[in-house]
Amino acid sequence: MIKPPREPLATTRNSVSPARHSLVFWGFLACLAGLTWLRIDLHKGGTSLIESAEAQQVAPVIADGVIVPVVTAPAVFEEHIVAVVPQILQQVVHDTLDGDGSIYLSLKKHDVSELQIALLSNALQPVFDAKRSSREGDSFVLTLDSAHVVARFEYTPVANPQHPVLVEREGDELVASVSVLPLIEQTRVLRVVIEDNLANAIRAAGEGDALTDIVADEIFAAVIDFHKDPRQGDELELIVSKSYLGDRFIRYDEVLLARYRGQVVNHTGFHYQDPTGVNGYYDERGQSLARLFLLKPMDYRRISSHFNRRRFHPILKKNVPHLGTDYAANPGTRVHATARGRVTHAGWNGGYGKMVEISHPNGYRTRYAHLSRIHVKKGQSVEQKTLIGRVGATGRATGPHLHYELIRNGRHMNPTNVNEDRRGAPLGPESLPAFAVHRDRMLARLPAVTSTASIQLADVGPASP
Ligand SMILES: [Zn+2]
Repeated sequence: MIKPPREPLATTRNSVSPARHSLVFWGFLACLAGLTWLRIDLHKGGTSLIESAEAQQVAPVIADGVIVPVVTAPAVFEEHIVAVVPQILQQVVHDTLDGDGSIYLSLKKHDVSELQIALLSNALQPVFDAKRSSREGDSFVLTLDSAHVVARFEYTPVANPQHPVLVEREGDELVASVSVLPLIEQTRVLRVVIEDNLANAIRAAGEGDALTDIVADEIFAAVIDFHKDPRQGDELELIVSKSYLGDRFIRYDEVLLARYRGQVVNHTGFHYQDPTGVNGYYDERGQSLARLFLLKPMDYRRISSHFNRRRFHPILKKNVPHLGTDYAANPGTRVHATARGRVTHAGWNGGYGKMVEISHPNGYRTRYAHLSRIHVKKGQSVEQKTLIGRVGATGRATGPHLHYELIRNGRHMNPTNVNEDRRGAPLGPESLPAFAVHRDRMLARLPAVTSTASIQLADVGPASP
């Protein structure tokens, strides 16, 4: 972000007496601006002196710490200096923001003056919120003219490289604009075999963790538990559309088809938009993969590697059955509501520590315990996946973990079985013919090896599990 830590030029974040501060600031800015234009004028003057060869020496001008470039040139060297000076003094700086994601600090590093930073910041303001949007990895190319004044500033946000920002000098002003570069969409068909876990299999295929997140936390979040269900040798096939800027990968746009064929679970999801415009994943028969409950209140990759299957079994504690599931996770890990509902408790609850309880349709309740922070209030409505709190170790907990309970009409339930009769809405009969065409077109794009599966699928008919 452009934000000097102490200097009065930090325009936007002065915390005390804003009126006085802004007065001081604008006064100071005007003063500095005056000095800079003076400096430029002086400099131009200096250049013309050399060009006209009427002076052999120009005295240094020092004003308020600003040292004007000084030329001391004997007449003999005039021609040489005239030819070289403009090129030497223009400076082009390439840089990438580091951990603090601060444009300001990066510009300071390259000795750009406070005034120039402030002018640049003002120019950027209408098109790019540097304070909020700049981050590590963003890159820029800065051109400073011979007077060390910003001539051009090209800024490429790492998260949005197809929208680079360009600041150019127009007369006395810096003017910013945002370009829209065309993205190229490519579709990749891939098949991965699970060796140890999903994330590693997807990485081994040269794809990123963002794709794992889509597969585990969006498409199959309610039907496959990727910590428990996969077995070595299981297969995942994907048709995924990806966006590129030139040959640089930008993002995953959509997984069009995901098919998981395992020893414990089998699911296929086709991305499809129903006639009302709602996007979802549907199986071969047009049944939604959405369920009333997510299988887990945390994202797949956020549950720490310490997690192991034993934790899914009840742990006896002094002959009292453990009626929930414990998820070991790093403190601060985001905890989501597993289904829509209303918050009935948000606060301390004895051994549970900081706890959220949500009541859901059909007599269900869920509890999320030992939280470090709570992000919802009692009485609040939440949707499936709403962020409700963060993993902690409050209450009777030996280490950071989430204790999750699912209760129906007072009875504790196993979260894995809860969705049996709680499916999302299927596609209506009027949508099925178009869906079937889409489905078969997608299946035809999978590699030939899987064609036997497609045939089986056609044979299975509406009674398929
Ligand atoms: Zn527990």
